[in-house]
Amino acid sequence: MGDAVATKKTIGRVHVRRQPSRGHYDRDSIYEVLDEGLVAHVAFMEAGQPFCIPMLQARIGDAVYLHGSTASRTMRILGGGAPACVTVTLLDGLVLARSAFEHSANYRSAVLLGIFGRVADPDERIAALAAFTNKLVPGRWEEVRKPSRQELKATVILSMPIGEASAKCRFGPPTDDGSVDAGLDIWAGVVRMRTAFDNVEPSPGLRPGIPVPASAGRLLERKG
Ligand SMILES: Cc1cc2nc3c(=O)[nH]c(=O)nc-3n(C[C@H](O)[C@H](O)[C@H](O)COP(=O)(O)OP(=O)(O)OC[C@H]3O[C@@H](n4cnc5c(N)ncnc54)[C@H](O)[C@@H]3O)c2cc1C
Repeated sequence: MGDAVATKKTIGRVHVRRQPSRGHYDRDSIYEVLDEGLVAHVAFMEAGQPFCIPMLQARIGDAVYLHGSTASRTMRILGGGAPACVTVTLLDGLVLARSAFEHSANYRSAVLLGIFGRVADPDERIAALAAFTNKLVPGRWEEVRKPSRQELKATVILSMPIGEASAKCRFGPPTDDGSVDAGLDIWAGVVRMRTAFDNVEPSPGLRPGIPVPASAGRLLERKG
């Protein structure tokens, strides 16, 4: 197990109390979820009302990054220093037990608490945009036109140091193998899940003769 991201003082708020053996606080476990998950649900409060907004996220080193429009309410509130909760979930399978009660899901998820700040440094902003692009489609940043000055001006990039964070993971079969229910003639096991790319749809306005890029081809070859 790698080094913990949360200190003893801060681990309290992210300590996994239900099924504590599934909780992990080391960098490797938390970064694995962040790096494999594309979508984060980002929660914050506005005027006493919690909001939880789906967004893309990318990690660089010990920080998680978001990007959005300068016109975005979410980016304005988060960039203004509102406490945030970032959750990333990977669903690995559905767990079918003999009883309805013992059904479950195999998953890896991460919950991060912290405060975002606006990224002003031009090099760090470009690095974050490259990280977003290449995270979604590895190698795509090298294929595309880079952001113009105007596009950069219209884009807010936020980063949050990864400090107070937990991962929670469930692996394996249903828990009723050793119970009296195992004597029933009911199938039990795991239906494994994966997210896979299916096919490409060329843009209607695509000039003829432009081949599918290597980056998209690699996505289609992935097994998920
Ligand atoms: C998979 C995914 C990835 C996304 N990635 C990004 C990203 O990287 N950057 C980015 O800026 N935006 C992203 N979005 C869009 C994002 O969810 C918000 O719609 C957007 O950021 C505008 O937020 P806002 O608070 O300014 O919107 P507002 O329009 O001010 O939100 C007002 C209300 O509209 C509703 N609303 C807003 N967004 C959604 C939504 N997605 N689904 C349902 N209701 C909604 C909510 O009730 C919200 O309180 C992504 C959406 C999805 C589904």
